[in-house]
Amino acid sequence: MQPGRAETGSSAPVSDVAIIGAGSAGLILGVALARAGLAVSILDRRAPVPPGPDADRRVFALSAGSCRVLDGLGLWPALAPDAQPITDIVVGDRAGPPLVHFDHAEMEVGALAHIVAADALQRALLAAAKAEASIRFVAPVQISRLDIASDRAGLVLADGGMVAARLVVGADGRNSLVRRAARINVTEWTYDQSAIVVEITHARPHHGTAEEKFLSGGPFAVLPLRDAVDGTPCSFIVWTEPSARITDLMKLSDADLEEELNHRLGDRLGRARINGPRQCFPLALTLAENYVAHRLALIGDAAHAIHPIAGQGLNLGIRDAAALAEVIVDARRLGLDFGMKTALLDYERWRRFDNTCLAAATDLLNRVFAIDNPVLNVAREAGMALLDRVGPARRLFMSEAMGLHGDLPRLVRGEPL
Ligand SMILES: Cc1cc2nc3c(=O)[nH]c(=O)nc-3n(C[C@H](O)[C@H](O)[C@H](O)COP(=O)(O)OP(=O)(O)OC[C@H]3O[C@@H](n4cnc5c(N)ncnc54)[C@H](O)[C@@H]3O)c2cc1C
Repeated sequence: MQPGRAETGSSAPVSDVAIIGAGSAGLILGVALARAGLAVSILDRRAPVPPGPDADRRVFALSAGSCRVLDGLGLWPALAPDAQPITDIVVGDRAGPPLVHFDHAEMEVGALAHIVAADALQRALLAAAKAEASIRFVAPVQISRLDIASDRAGLVLADGGMVAARLVVGADGRNSLVRRAARINVTEWTYDQSAIVVEITHARPHHGTAEEKFLSGGPFAVLPLRDAVDGTPCSFIVWTEPSARITDLMKLSDADLEEELNHRLGDRLGRARINGPRQCFPLALTLAENYVAHRLALIGDAAHAIHPIAGQGLNLGIRDAAALAEVIVDARRLGLDFGMKTALLDYERWRRFDNTCLAAATDLLNRVFAIDNPVLNVAREAGMALLDRVGPARRLFMSEAMGLHGDLPRLVRGEPL
């Protein structure tokens, strides 16, 4: 996409907001804005929900705050029957027993988070977006130029078409073209780590417990899934290792990968079997220096792509979408031009601190736990044991992970937009 700053001079109809990227963050923003009466265009380079081997087989741990946003948009009832509540989280270092136990009973909530299949979430969001008369869906499409004018932003499409809006939102993921077109700088590095994700069945029930083990290659997470129709317990593995090691693991037969998995799983769940294809994801950190410019805003991974060690990337993106929707709707109610940078800066100030803190925390956790040093091992274990014993610290940690801490957007508080 080429950047530009010119009068668009186009006669294309002007939407209120054009969202580039029909991932979860973009679709949630689009549905929220459409329900508030705005005219929205959503553009994506891919046709919706690719079938077969290209389908995203991940599951997401959605925080209580994210589930509230989905509920507020009327989407949760369709997702809830297949969503697995996480009632407990146990965390451990290397081979020993868990050192920290987070228990939902302490928070007086039904669940700390819910596990939802990425594919099911995407389908539900797409269906909701397509049901809104004020959303114009354009996909697949290639955007070749972004023109920012004083009163509107124009997107020139490769087929010669044109989309104009009072505000363009980049929700186009970690390699955001919108961000690059706006010449917004990033701080970024790769982790030289990748994550293998794969579903397993196992002999013993998980009782809604998620487990995170900090192993020398990287974090190893076991997320509970709904039982299979025949009652067999199922879980989902997110297994991080240095990228060279992941390349080797991806080549193993299912039987050999199963051996490696069972070795790491220990005996909490009994014997585990692989239940479906594996996928792998290279990991990197990308933080945009600014989230907004004149007639432009970034949300989700376009603004901040973080390590999945805490399963929080999408949760942050959902909070971005809720916050930006609120800033836009409030400005509009006051008769203000929500595409002006001055209005959009409220969104940037609101979200950047939260996102940067979590990015830094996940980065630090990943680094600290990757070092195999006897002194550091003892210090880490002592730190976790302390966290396990100090109730207020444990509850603050849970409240953060549930996305219910800090200055929350109305949708995250369970209030209407
Ligand atoms: C292994 C792994 C496990 C994870 N687990 C969790 C978890 O449990 N919980 C959690 O909260 N987060 C998790 N995350 C993070 C989460 O996956 C991301 O934060 C989230 O998917 C980002 O959503 P998004 O909508 O911002 O971007 P994306 O999902 O990347 O969507 C971007 C969209 O933009 C489109 N697009 C891209 N470029 C263009 C273009 N030029 N023109 C038009 N369209 C374009 C793409 O086609 C796509 O549809 C995990 C990440 C990994 C790698």
